[in-house]
Amino acid sequence: MLVREDLNVPLKDGAIADDTRVRAALPTLRGLLEKGAKVIVMSHLGRPKGRPAPEFTLRPVADRLRDLLGREVSFAEDCVGEPARTAAARLGEGQLVLLENVRFHPGEEANDRDFARQLAELGEIFVNDAFAASHRAHASVVGVAEFLPAYAGDLMLAELEALHRALDEPRRPLVAIVGGAKVSSKAGVLRFLLPKVDALLVGGAMANTFFKADGKEVGASYVEDEALQETRAVAEMGGDRLVLPIDTVCAPKMEAGQPTRVFPAGEIEPGWMILDIGPETSALFAERVRAAGTVVWNGPLGVFEIPEFSEGTKAVAEAVANSDAFSLLGGGDTAAAVEQMGMAGSFSHVSTGGGATLEYMEGKELPGVAVLKEAEG
Ligand code: ADP
Ligand code: MG
Repeated sequence: MLVREDLNVPLKDGAIADDTRVRAALPTLRGLLEKGAKVIVMSHLGRPKGRPAPEFTLRPVADRLRDLLGREVSFAEDCVGEPARTAAARLGEGQLVLLENVRFHPGEEANDRDFARQLAELGEIFVNDAFAASHRAHASVVGVAEFLPAYAGDLMLAELEALHRALDEPRRPLVAIVGGAKVSSKAGVLRFLLPKVDALLVGGAMANTFFKADGKEVGASYVEDEALQETRAVAEMGGDRLVLPIDTVCAPKMEAGQPTRVFPAGEIEPGWMILDIGPETSALFAERVRAAGTVVWNGPLGVFEIPEFSEGTKAVAEAVANSDAFSLLGGGDTAAAVEQMGMAGSFSHVSTGGGATLEYMEGKELPGVAVLKEAEG
């Protein structure tokens, strides 16, 4: 059984800084091992650019997998060739081997057919469980499906079911919350969500660009001037469903230890920049969330990395956690924010996908999911 997981964990000084993705893979792996499968796991780590790079070895991840699974986990020094073939041949039923980083070979990102065939020769069935990597048409995600019957793993199914439930058949009202830094990186998400939602609450630096596009005073706030026209188009599309902040927490600089002031939206004094939604906005967003049947959230509402500007994100996260709504959170920084607040377990689903979730929320078909559909039908 050849299983693609996304074990691309953040590292700090060679150690795993956050093992969320390893833990997310456990149910699939345990399930297969308990059924007596011989499990060969593929993953990438970081961006080694098609060459072996010791700082991107998956070896520490193999150690973590062993600890979390409470079983022996072997490690193959290469994902293809002699080391991989030998490790795969040695596996007994109910045993697992993790292959070294697939991105140590240029064929991975190039989706090279011969490289995909070499991977595929290691197993008889392909399981793609790497939702977070499935927006990439790479060999270990897409290419191998040409040579093996391809199935979705449990994590992949959970991710797709949560997205389907939230966006295709939502319990209404459907309230979307979109924040983060840039309109330009989220315009596709806004355009995809707006026709589906009953309300779209906007926060983060993105709101600044909406304010400026509407002719409002934003002081020294970060604004994407090149996106003003696009922002106006989105605002027009949203109409009454688009809900912008009514007050903002500001400071002279984006740093800890700065004096802070709350200004009503559109009345920011010169020299001050918007770094979080204000308390009245938090209350307004919380009220919308309380009445929601479904909440979809991407993008922090302020600079959550700095405590002074994390209150808005925290207040809204608490409102979502305490609501009866089906709640789906996605995006790398959004997941990091609720993890930092110790609230990651308080939602219906926190997606492991950053870019993959965003592409899904732009209405794009993910290549790694598309091959599974083909294999099924
Ligand atoms: P995600 O990864 O969840 O999709 P983004 O990458 O779009 O989210 O945005 C996250 C970033 O946006 C965070 O680093 C946060 O500090 C920043 N941000 C949020 N609000 C503001 C603001 N008012 N000014 C500057 N940066 C902001
Ligand atoms: Mg991000």
